[in-house]
Parts: sequence; C-alpha cells; structure tokens
Amino acid sequence: MKTIGLLGGMSWESTATYYQLINQEINQRLGKMHSAKILLNSVDFEVIENFQSSGKWDEAGEELAKQAKILSEGGADFILICTNTMHKVFNQIRQASNKPVLHIADATADQLKASRISKVGLLGTAFTMEQDFYKGRIVAEHGIQILVPNEEDRELIHRVIYQELCLGKIEAESKRAYLSIVEKLASDGAEGIILGCTEIGLLISQEDTNVPIFDTTKIHALAAVEEALGK
Ligand code: GLU
Repeated sequence: MKTIGLLGGMSWESTATYYQLINQEINQRLGKMHSAKILLNSVDFEVIENFQSSGKWDEAGEELAKQAKILSEGGADFILICTNTMHKVFNQIRQASNKPVLHIADATADQLKASRISKVGLLGTAFTMEQDFYKGRIVAEHGIQILVPNEEDRELIHRVIYQELCLGKIEAESKRAYLSIVEKLASDGAEGIILGCTEIGLLISQEDTNVPIFDTTKIHALAAVEEALGK
C-alpha cells in the first residue's frame, strides 16, 4: 500500500472528513485491522486565507509548495491538496513536491463522465466559481460544460463557506439557501451539481435532493484509495 500525503487544514473541518473517509474505505476493502498509510501536513488556515483575500496567490503557492515538499521528503508516495480553491496553485505544489499530485477536478470530471453528465452546476468559493483555473480545466480537458450561480447566489455560497462551514457551523437556513440554488441550476439545465468546495458536503448531500450530487471530498478521497492500492 502506498503512503498518502494529505496537504490539509484548509479547512481542518474538511480534512477530518478526508481522514475518516480514506481510512473507512481502506478498511472496507482490505478488512481485518487495515487502515490507510497517511502523512498529514495540516497548515494554519488563517495564514492561507489572508493570502487568498489579499490576492497574494504566489505567496500562498510558495507556502503550500514548501509544505508539500515536507510531505514528499517525509515519505508520501503521492499527494492530495485537500481543497478545491488551492488547486489554483497546483503547478507550484506539483513541481516542489516532485511526486504525483491527484488533481481534484480531474477525479471529479472522471466521475461526471462515468455518469454521462455533460452539463454540470458548480458550487464553491468565489475563486473556484469565477476564475478559470478549475472550470477551465474541466471544460478544456474533459469537455464538460459548467454553469455557475448568479452573482447574489455566489456571494451567499462564498460567505457561508468562510463564515460558517470552515468554522464547523451548520445552519438550517444556509442549507435551505444552498438547496434552492441547486434547484435553480438544475432548472437552468444542470444535470448534476459539483460540491466544489471540500466543506459543502458538511451542509448538503445526496439525501437532500434528487439532483445528482458530486461531492469533491468523497470523490478525491476515493481516488486516493484507488491510487494507494495501486488500481
Ligand atoms: N475547502 C474549500 C475548497 O475546497 C475552501 C477553503 C479554501 O479556500 O481552501 O475550496
């Protein structure tokens, strides 16, 4: 079994989910007392969030590249960046780590294709919904069309992520608001919805809606298990 390097803490609320899902899946597949071989490097999210909100992406990339290198030098065979947003600095991290880095958007696009989804709605931080580093990759490399919510809805989604979910606050009103945005995207033609932020699965899940849900945390964690077991 390969050793998984988790670059986490962004936020720790969702990194805890990664840790649990990966271990559960490894045990389900291998049985007995088996659990995953994981190195976790969990950063102080306040530092990274300050870089994000002040547009200092190069500095954020340098910091995360340094932390990824610690994982690869420590013995990780491959790395997961446990946040969609910080895939904005994917190239910096990959180069510094000198190890395979499993891209969260590629893993998600593979699942969308397996479900024959050609047009999908995207929920995530404003960075993920509005910039090209994530959407562009899914469109250009996987040929899937992306719909994003309107400006007002994007603001709400972003605010809930940073002011509630990253702090472990789960509010019924926010859940209702998210589900109504999911319905709007579906009526605009989205055949499924990407939960393109690793905390959104803490708020809504497939049980809450008939629209097919693609939870990037689950998808990324399962992709790590496949890679760790050499499949
Ligand atoms: N975990 C979130 C994501 O998947 C947001 C936190 C961050 O900005 O990294 O995008």
